[in-house]
Amino acid sequence: MGRTSKDKRDVYYRLAKENGWRARSAFKLLQLDEEFQLFQGVTRAVDLCAAPGSWSQVLSQKIGGQGSGHVVAVDLQAMAPLPGVLQIQGDITQLSTAKEIIKHFEGCPADLVVCDGAPDVTGLHDVDEYMQAQLLLAALNIATHVLKPGGCFVAKIFRGRDVTLIYSQLRVFFSSVLCAKPRSSRNSSIEAFAVCQGYDPPQGFLPDLTKPLLDHSYDPDFNQLDGPTRIIVPFVTCGDLSSYDSDRSYPLDLEDGSEYKYTPPTQPPISPPYQEACTLKKKGWLAKEIRPQDCPISTVDTLPR
Ligand code: SAM
Repeated sequence: MGRTSKDKRDVYYRLAKENGWRARSAFKLLQLDEEFQLFQGVTRAVDLCAAPGSWSQVLSQKIGGQGSGHVVAVDLQAMAPLPGVLQIQGDITQLSTAKEIIKHFEGCPADLVVCDGAPDVTGLHDVDEYMQAQLLLAALNIATHVLKPGGCFVAKIFRGRDVTLIYSQLRVFFSSVLCAKPRSSRNSSIEAFAVCQGYDPPQGFLPDLTKPLLDHSYDPDFNQLDGPTRIIVPFVTCGDLSSYDSDRSYPLDLEDGSEYKYTPPTQPPISPPYQEACTLKKKGWLAKEIRPQDCPISTVDTLPR
C-alpha cells in the first residue's frame, strides 16, 4: 500500500496533516463546536484521553482568546508537548490520576471537560461497549469534581444497546444532553458524542472519589428505563453537509487545481505500543510461531523444544 492511498481513502486524515493537526479527530471537535458553540466563554478545559493531542491543539488555539486559556491534557500514553497545555500521563480510571487532575482545578473550576477516550477494541461488541462506558463514567466522575455550574461535558460514546442507560446517568447531572454525530465521524462507526450542557448536579450532591459516582438515590426514576420514563435524547448531525463525507474516497487532485503533494504526519507518535514490534521486525527477530502442521516432519523433529 502506497503512502498516498490513505490520503485518498480518508480525506480527513489528509486534511489533518495539511492543516497541522496531529489527528483527524480535530475535525470532530471543530464540527461539534460549530453546532454547539462549545468554546464560547471557555478559559479552562480538561482534555481526557488526549493523545496524540489534536483536541488539545484545538482547545489551546480556540479557548480564552489567543490561546491564553488553560488546558490540562491526560492520557495513558506519552504525548509530545504542546504550548499552553499541561500534560498528565495516567489512566483516568485510576484514583491517583483523578486526584492529580482535580488538584489543578481546586478553587478555579473548569468550563469544559472533553473525553475522546477509546479502549483497545476487542471486536467483541458487548465488551467494547462496556469498556467504553467505563471510560465515559470515569470521565464524568472527574467532570463532577472540576466543572463549574453551567459547565459543559463532551464525551465519546458507542451507540450500543444500553446507551440509554448512559443518557439517563448524564441527565442526572446536566440540564441538556444530546447525541451528536460530526460529519468527520464515519457513518459506519457506532461512535458518537454525548454533548452535555448546563452542569447542574442534584441538590445536595457532593462529589466523592471514594464512593461510586452514580449514587442512584439522587434520582428515584433512575432505573426505570422502560415505557414513558425511558430517556431518549435528540440525535444531531453536525458539520456542514456540503463538507467532506468521511465514508467516501476522494481523488488526490486538489479542488483548486494545484498539484497534490504528500504531507507527512504532523506529529508522529512518541513511544507507541507497537515500537517494540517494529524494532524486533527490523532485526528479523519478530518470528512467526511455527505450527507443527506447517512444517515438514524432518523440521519438526529438529525444532528446539
Ligand atoms: N482526542 C485525541 C486526539 O485528538 O488526538 C485522540 C484520542 S484517541 C481516539 C483515544 C485515546 O484514549 C488513546 O490515546 C488512548 O491512549 C486513550 N485512553 C484509552 N483508555 C484510557 C484510560 N483509561 N486513561 C487515559 N487514556 C486512555
